[in-house]
Amino acid sequence: MSESHDFDLIVIGAGSGGVRLARMSAQRGARVAVVESRYLGGTCVNVGCVPKKLFVYGAHVREELEDAHGYGWSVPTDDVSFDWPTLVANKNAEIERLNGIYGRLLENAGVTIIEGTASIRDPHTVMVGEKAYSAAHITVATGSWPVVPDIPGKELLLTSNEMFYLPQLPRHAVVWGGGYIAVEFAGILAGLGVETTLLYRGELFLRGFDEDIRTFTEQEMRKKGVDLRFNVTIESVEQLNAHYQVNLSDGSSLETGLVMAATGRRALVDGLGLTDLGVELNASGHIEVNDHFQTAIPSISALGDVIGTPQLTPVALAQAMVLSRRLFGDGQGDMDYSAIPTAVFCQPNIGTVGLTEKEAREAGHSLRIYRSEFRPMKYTLSGRDERCLMKLIVDDGSDKVLGAHMVGPDAGEIIQGLAVAIKAGATKAQFDATMGIHPTSAEEFVTMREPVA
Ligand code: NDP
Repeated sequence: MSESHDFDLIVIGAGSGGVRLARMSAQRGARVAVVESRYLGGTCVNVGCVPKKLFVYGAHVREELEDAHGYGWSVPTDDVSFDWPTLVANKNAEIERLNGIYGRLLENAGVTIIEGTASIRDPHTVMVGEKAYSAAHITVATGSWPVVPDIPGKELLLTSNEMFYLPQLPRHAVVWGGGYIAVEFAGILAGLGVETTLLYRGELFLRGFDEDIRTFTEQEMRKKGVDLRFNVTIESVEQLNAHYQVNLSDGSSLETGLVMAATGRRALVDGLGLTDLGVELNASGHIEVNDHFQTAIPSISALGDVIGTPQLTPVALAQAMVLSRRLFGDGQGDMDYSAIPTAVFCQPNIGTVGLTEKEAREAGHSLRIYRSEFRPMKYTLSGRDERCLMKLIVDDGSDKVLGAHMVGPDAGEIIQGLAVAIKAGATKAQFDATMGIHPTSAEEFVTMREPVA
């Protein structure tokens, strides 16, 4: 710690990673400031994970009401109404509450919050407006921002940022992309009663997920009425009064009330002055760091979405704890990016941890594959035609479970527990020796006896 600077650490960006780094470092006795130009909590709290999950809950209510009939409840589903502005207002109130919590967490830890846009003048000086602040260490945790492909009419497209504040829902919407955000928003919109078309440029959406998970999710989303169109992309968008004409690569076009681009996110480095300082960006525009989050300038580090590691809140949080320990703790600790569990909150949810079947085969493993597909018990009385898929990837030689994948209700909740087992190196025999909890869907993961391949 150095008295010759205003602070020991200045963190640029008060998102998940930045706030965690600031708090942890302050608790270790460092004098810390965090600079934020927008909102406390970053993407996750304001225009990402948290409001998205609230919308997912909201979108699922319609099915809950429909399912109630089979259990003897009379709910007039043909007369049921939904008020989008109420959902948005309630969501906004919850986000404001969380913003307040984030502010108090920082203040209580003794972190100075500086509102404004930061740039880095030299390896130890951050400018916020006209004011200069010096620090022994500077960490860039500015996150990422949605990318909209450069097509004619791109200014007419919305991104997830705007979707959270839409004044009203259209009758029909187009979602462009085939990753996390596209499938999650397609599920939200369809669940809320919007006719939804998802357009994806490749053969099958959710590239990188296990093939069975991708095809199963496709099947279940189609059953829910989402119009999935693959091998097609948007060439241009035109405004037609209050509607849009979306011109597609196959020569066709469609009319819609909203076009959302969910086509990836780029590192948010604009205006920081990094390249002038000699901080390198890689080909994808992310900040280059070494294993200890250090850039080419030793006093400047970076973490979270801006460095191009998996764009997930828990990853940024873990990185922040490693970096804080490195800077102000015992100087030890490394990140472990293996077996990161993740969920996609489409409907039904996807939960996944470890290797996909393809990744495991490509890594040279000889495999046993276990798969179970069934109708969740909850839907027996309601008659809902929704199925659940569970899959285990097992190394035949060592018996180690390399991956667990699921599509079905509460997949994220179920896979979180299995992630502990997989991280601990559990074998299939240990899965088999584990008692199931009956009757649950999750028990299938410990009762799959016969490999299918
Ligand atoms: P992704 O990178 O996951 O997906 C982007 C999608 O857009 C891909 O299907 C990609 O196609 C497609 N695409 C990219 N560029 C173009 C283009 N020029 N024209 C047409 N299609 C294009 O990004 P998202 O925006 O969905 O999400 C960003 C990240 O945020 C995720 O990767 C994830 O890490 C994180 N996230 C996590 C969530 C969670 O944990 N539940 C929820 C939401 C986001 P292709 O596959 O062919 O490249």
